[in-house]
Amino acid sequence: MREIESGEITEAVRKMSIEAAYKLGHDVMEAFEKNLKTETSPTGREVLKQLVENARIAEEGLFPMCQDTGFAVIFVELGQDVHVTGGDLNQAIHEGVRQGYSEGFLRKSVCDPFTRENTCDNTPAIIHINIVPGDRIKLTLAGKGGGSENMSRVMMLKPSDGKEGIIDYVVQRVSESGPNPCPPTIIGVGIGGTFEKAALLAKEALLRTLGEPSTDPELAAMEEEILERINRLGIGPGGLGGKTTSMAVHVKLHPCHIASLPVAVNINCHAHRHKDILL
Ligand code: SF4
Repeated sequence: MREIESGEITEAVRKMSIEAAYKLGHDVMEAFEKNLKTETSPTGREVLKQLVENARIAEEGLFPMCQDTGFAVIFVELGQDVHVTGGDLNQAIHEGVRQGYSEGFLRKSVCDPFTRENTCDNTPAIIHINIVPGDRIKLTLAGKGGGSENMSRVMMLKPSDGKEGIIDYVVQRVSESGPNPCPPTIIGVGIGGTFEKAALLAKEALLRTLGEPSTDPELAAMEEEILERINRLGIGPGGLGGKTTSMAVHVKLHPCHIASLPVAVNINCHAHRHKDILL
């Protein structure tokens, strides 16, 4: 049994909270550049250039790329041969978020749903723990903005709606979202499972590196078709018109009940912030 001290987990989450807010991943920057080559709308091109510039300024100046630094969503792949010592795993993660959002001067965006009173340290984090073989812990942090999260949905389709029904629903969801999720977006789609499993699949789908299609050829073809249809909607960068409404569509699938066809669409904005650390 390998021992990992809870303080190491706190430190990793603290670091990821700050880095995710200041520095966009290479895959996102490459996606901006790639779409700059194909975007034909002058306004759309200008917005994409500003997003590249904004990311560069944030990274060099060491400040957040967006004022909404998001809800800290933490995925934990916990090796079954790991023993966390010196404290509670969940508390270690919350503490890392607390320290990161404070030290990084990141906006605290978490509040009581009724009173709207801010918790003042961006906790509690949303934590998803998955037990896996091995003696490592992989932590992935996603800083999830409110604007794009608000446009996300779970829909229980009829089994007879089939693949075409799913594709139509995802495109319709993006169309109805218009400029609200701060395009160009990344679309996570979860198909199957139950109501809550579909939502989790959609969020997990967002974690995949942009530009990497699904390893399942059927899903990869579906991703391509959805992306093509979305980018014909004309919403464009910043919602100001153009071809680049979304930069990627990622689909994950799970078996479902014979009477159901759950579909979740989790939309992420251009501030597509993810970091991971292996302990
Ligand atoms: S949706 Fe994203 S880009 Fe828009 S304000 Fe929120 S975090 Fe920022």
